[in-house]
Amino acid sequence: MIYNEEFETLPREALEALQLKRLRQVVARVYHTVNFYKKSFDKAGVSPDDLRTLNDLQRFPFTVKQDLRDNYPFGLFAVPMSNVVRLHASSGTTGASTVVGYTKHDIEIWTELVGRCFVAAGLTKNDIIHNAYGYGLFTGGLGAHYGAEKIGASVIPMSGGNTKRQIMILQDFGPTAICCTPSYALNLAEQGRAMGVDMRALKLRVGIFGAEPWSEKMRGEIEKALNLTALNIYGLSEIMGPGVAMECSEERNGMHIYEDNFLVETIDPQTGEVLPPGTEGEIVFTTLTKEAFPLIRYRTRDIARLNLTPCRCGRTHYRLERIVGRSDDMLIIRGVNVFPSQIEAVLVGIDGLEPYYQLIVDREGTLDTLEVQVEVTEKQFAGADEIKVIQRLEKSLIKDMKDYLGITAKVKLVEPKSIQRSFGKANRVIDKRKI
Ligand code: AMP
Ligand code: ZN
Repeated sequence: MIYNEEFETLPREALEALQLKRLRQVVARVYHTVNFYKKSFDKAGVSPDDLRTLNDLQRFPFTVKQDLRDNYPFGLFAVPMSNVVRLHASSGTTGASTVVGYTKHDIEIWTELVGRCFVAAGLTKNDIIHNAYGYGLFTGGLGAHYGAEKIGASVIPMSGGNTKRQIMILQDFGPTAICCTPSYALNLAEQGRAMGVDMRALKLRVGIFGAEPWSEKMRGEIEKALNLTALNIYGLSEIMGPGVAMECSEERNGMHIYEDNFLVETIDPQTGEVLPPGTEGEIVFTTLTKEAFPLIRYRTRDIARLNLTPCRCGRTHYRLERIVGRSDDMLIIRGVNVFPSQIEAVLVGIDGLEPYYQLIVDREGTLDTLEVQVEVTEKQFAGADEIKVIQRLEKSLIKDMKDYLGITAKVKLVEPKSIQRSFGKANRVIDKRKI
């Protein structure tokens, strides 16, 4: 099913014509209403009239997170506060939080886009959605909530945390779908099992997971633990919140970006050069329909690739493949670039290991060091010959890390349940170099 057949299946040519029309409008509007854009366009020697084709956008300057911080809290708003009906702030995945605002119309569009996501996941008004994204300043909770109501589903506004209660509600209310971070889904599954609940026997059939990077292997783990179909959803508060892009249940292979609302570019994170679509690089968005907080060429720092091939579901919007990491959390270990998600892909699914891990980065002299701590399973931990088996596992992991990623890491297998569990976004990297 497609929520908005007309806009989600627009032929590319019509879609691009619509994008150009909207782009010209938004660029002109920010130039005349937001001091920051007037200054930065003037400095770059460009004006809204220069936009004749979509490619002309490449001459315009990028907007970066620091620009949002410099204009904290409301300096980039393009409408008077009397037209703003909602404020959110980013969870501060990295650094200080940034503030975003929405007009009534912005909320309507956001609501529709999250509605599109739920329909793409195969949900209808007959579903009960357990929403365990955090409610509050974080966009996840309210964003998913409005979208779920929009399609007429019954929402359980659970928010994050209070895991035992969540498990009780999952059993008693029988939701058919759940929304949360992938790491929290695993946490729920684990705690449920510990409480003696058969988490595979719940009524859940679909899980909509996002807000942090995860891997295909982790998808497998979650699907096994909760007996559901797991789908990927993407968004960021600066651009809107959840619902910028969503996987369709037909292919489950990359998230359709709602391109009638967001223009996407891929750039080289080092040079800023625009790369041909389909190349791996940093994802840059321009909002095409937002009123209160439009952003022009916003550098997300998320590294991924676009998939341009037509999709079986009939949507014409390009797909965003899994985020492999953020250009700002890329670790450079003795000259080798590596993202936490690549390390996860090596770890998850190995027999005897749990999908809970932590990366500790430090520096010895001038060299960066990486220690990977992973939990072993109860069975492994309690088994006879425990020390020998653990040593063997550690050795083979060190080898895998070298073979697959080219990095030299220390590996430390730790006791079951010793790594801190997440309630929202997992924090997997402890960087001791900054301390
Ligand atoms: P926030 O604005 O606090 O919601 O954080 C947005 C950031 O979360 C994005 O820029 C991504 O780095 C990350 N993120 C959101 N959804 C996903 C996803 N499905 N996969 C990987 N990372 C994601
Ligand atoms: Zn599709």
